Amino acid sequence: MPMTGDFRQRLFPVLPDIAAHFGTPFHIYDEAGIRDTGNRLKACFASTGNFREFFAVKALPNPRILEIMRDMGFGFDCSSIPELVMSRRTGAAGGEIMFTSNNTTREDFEAALANGGSILNLDDITLIDKLPQIPDLISFRYNPGPLRTGNAIIGNPVEAKYGVSHDQITDAYRRMRDLGSTRFGLHTMLVSNELNHEYMVETVKMLLDMVAEISGELGIDFEFINMGGGLGIPYRPGDPPLDIEAMGEKITGLYADFRKQHGKTPDLCMESGRYMTGPHGVLVTTAINEKNIYRRYVGVDASMSALMRPGMYGAYHHIDVVDPASPGSDLEKAPDRPSQRVDVVGSLCENIDKFAVERDLPEIREKDLLVIQDTGAHGHAMGFNYNAKLRPKELMFNADGSVSLIRREETMDDYFATLAFEADILRPGG
Ligand SMILES: *Cc1c(COP(=O)(O)O)cnc(C)c1O
Repeated sequence: MPMTGDFRQRLFPVLPDIAAHFGTPFHIYDEAGIRDTGNRLKACFASTGNFREFFAVKALPNPRILEIMRDMGFGFDCSSIPELVMSRRTGAAGGEIMFTSNNTTREDFEAALANGGSILNLDDITLIDKLPQIPDLISFRYNPGPLRTGNAIIGNPVEAKYGVSHDQITDAYRRMRDLGSTRFGLHTMLVSNELNHEYMVETVKMLLDMVAEISGELGIDFEFINMGGGLGIPYRPGDPPLDIEAMGEKITGLYADFRKQHGKTPDLCMESGRYMTGPHGVLVTTAINEKNIYRRYVGVDASMSALMRPGMYGAYHHIDVVDPASPGSDLEKAPDRPSQRVDVVGSLCENIDKFAVERDLPEIREKDLLVIQDTGAHGHAMGFNYNAKLRPKELMFNADGSVSLIRREETMDDYFATLAFEADILRPGG
């Protein structure tokens, strides 16, 4: 199932209280679940030597989340200045932050190198000339092009805008070595939401092969390889979950072979976002309208400004219906709630503003709570303000059972904030 049974059992009975106190809509995240997943991930890769996860901040940029990640010993993967600032506010610095930007500006580089620095992960060979200074430690993002296939969200490597091509990669390290860098890492990120663990194992093998090849040619050592993010989660009830234990075993095997051959291994880094938090968050929204025209529509009090994955990618998010008067009962089995085929919609003037299309759900009544699942990554973070829709609040379901507000909802003042400015008029040529 998408949402773990355990989270469901803890959340649903108290959901009406939470909704009554905080008001809907909101995203709520499960601290206990996030910690479980983090600990499982660490355990899977412990035998490779030095495993480090750099949480992909863009998946769920909230300071409370970043504190939990840091508490588990994880670093951060950032690609913008505000992400760097948010990560550093948790106390992270230097080697605890990976800066993996693309189409990078000089301002980005300066921010990444200032205030305690970060590990620069360069997206292109031409960016070497744009570095404000030569860092001791440098990494490149490798794009194998036709040597690998990608997947739907990120695209085929030959069509992806990211990374340094196979032909350029050795030269890129040669240039950095000649400019004075002494420490090296190698990064790649080829897929998104991948459920086949073999693909990730292949990626690690590819990186280890490249490390051996480039080291041999240039006489440099690699401190780390970074296999990127892209670990998938089962959004649909029938999806087989990614077998991270099998993935950990096979990658540990690759590491043992590499150690036998070369006498040492680079640290293994990962920058998962979705896998860490995706299943541990849900969007809770209230049914407020129903209309029957050519199809049956259930209108809820959230819009795609709170979750754009269904509209943007046609992504499936599982939905459970909770009757606030009896939150423990399973409406799918209730005789007075026959299944109906509905579109679950927000209020944007855009027909893609749908959380579900032709979905069979138990009959939904006004004031029912709809739990839209797996919104813990690339959910709130992807929100936007089109149609002047405001983004909802975020809550944390703490491990002790309490619930805290960790981001308030946007207000009209937030929306109008960028319209308060000093007059600035240019008369070109005048
Ligand atoms: C988005 C992104 C990630 C995280 O991807 P997930 O699919 O959430 O694991 C990691 N690394 C880079 C460079 C990214 O752009």
